[in-house]
Amino acid sequence: MTNPRNLPSVDSLLQTPQLADLIALHGRPLAVEAIRFALDRARADSLAGLDLPSRDSLLARVDAFLAAWTRPSLQPVINASGVILHTNLGRAPLSRAALAAMQSVALGYSNLEFDLSTGKRGSRTHHAESLLQKLTGAESALVVNNNAAAVLLILSALAKGKRVAISRTQLVEIGGSFRVPDVMKQSGAKLAEVGATNKVRLRDYEEAIREGASLVMRAHRSNFKIIGFTEEPDLVKIVELAHKHDLPLVDDLGSGTLLDTTTFGLGREPTVQESLAAGADLVCFSGDKLLGGPQAGIIVGKKEWLDRIKKHPLARAVRADKLCLAALSATLIHYLKDEAAREIPVWRMISATAEQMRGRAEAWREKLGQGEVVESESTVGGGSLPEESLPTFALSLTVKHPDKFLKRLRESNPPIIARTENDKILLDPRTVLLEQDSVMVDVLTRMTRINEFRE
Ligand SMILES: *Cc1c(COP(=O)(O)O)cnc(C)c1O
Repeated sequence: MTNPRNLPSVDSLLQTPQLADLIALHGRPLAVEAIRFALDRARADSLAGLDLPSRDSLLARVDAFLAAWTRPSLQPVINASGVILHTNLGRAPLSRAALAAMQSVALGYSNLEFDLSTGKRGSRTHHAESLLQKLTGAESALVVNNNAAAVLLILSALAKGKRVAISRTQLVEIGGSFRVPDVMKQSGAKLAEVGATNKVRLRDYEEAIREGASLVMRAHRSNFKIIGFTEEPDLVKIVELAHKHDLPLVDDLGSGTLLDTTTFGLGREPTVQESLAAGADLVCFSGDKLLGGPQAGIIVGKKEWLDRIKKHPLARAVRADKLCLAALSATLIHYLKDEAAREIPVWRMISATAEQMRGRAEAWREKLGQGEVVESESTVGGGSLPEESLPTFALSLTVKHPDKFLKRLRESNPPIIARTENDKILLDPRTVLLEQDSVMVDVLTRMTRINEFRE
């Protein structure tokens, strides 16, 4: 039977008890749309010579369309890749306290821009600002949408139509389409390149200043290293020179960290406090890289410059929302209470020992009843600490068709992101949250039983 005239009508399908349930779940208009969609497809199939679907099969398709349409496409995944700040997987997971803070302001009203003591209008960024001042010793602070916006805003407010001196060693591309020179152009600032790609001397900066630069910028080489025949003056020296000519120095730290990464067995990532102590007038960094908070761009530094930045029209366009400010404040309070390494997930992951990782990988292997625990390396990622890794132990699985297995893992519920090394599937416990262990092992158990993947 392939005549599309034999398909049931929309109305007759709407009368069925199955549809009553679906209407209760998803609402009538969407249910009607799903029926029409299923019938259209069946009609097209039949014109192509396929059999007409049965009534039950049509209803099942309507159910499937409704389920797919109403499922948010943004969903949690299990990160077993061992990359801690994985930009494509949402960078930093938040602490419990950050989540609770977001929830408390999300469900109702808040004093976002309201001064409770005077009953008058207040400032939204005041909430995180006072914490940032306390933590870094900066005179003033501002929180915006992300660090790219922070750079754009700073340059738009202070250097539009002016020359900005920046070293040729720092004209970096961070990822996606964020390139320091492009953002400068966007802000209306003019690039004054300093030095050579491997060597920059103080007198190169001096020359750029003599040629009319009105701001000196430094951008952290977040995701690459320059090695070999290289030279670059210390930040303190560049600051001294800029100040001698009454120019501000802006330091884009990228990740920026408040904690000393070397105490965690990692290389040195410049801290926000160091940069301020060196005399930088403005320092900007991300909220969701090593800080371990929500997506945000944070600017700290001298009040004189921040006051000008806050008044710029772009400040309003890139302002942080209340959920961000709530989560960021809660994250900053962890640093204030000296409990960051324990409470902030990215620091907990960084500080976990290889032995602890071995223990978890062993426990996975035992429950799964197969695999091998192997030495491996986790990385920080997210444009921080390039080439740096943390020793770890991973569960290694030998399966047939490893690439297909990886894909099936990504499409499982919840999706699991793993990697392959020498044709083995590697799962690193460092980036898997403790509470995800059992559901992950359940998915792996189901998957490894599929014949197609068995050795
Ligand atoms: C990551 C990074 C940025 C962009 O920060 P976002 O918060 O992702 O917008 C800018 N500059 C540097 C040096 C970075 O590393």
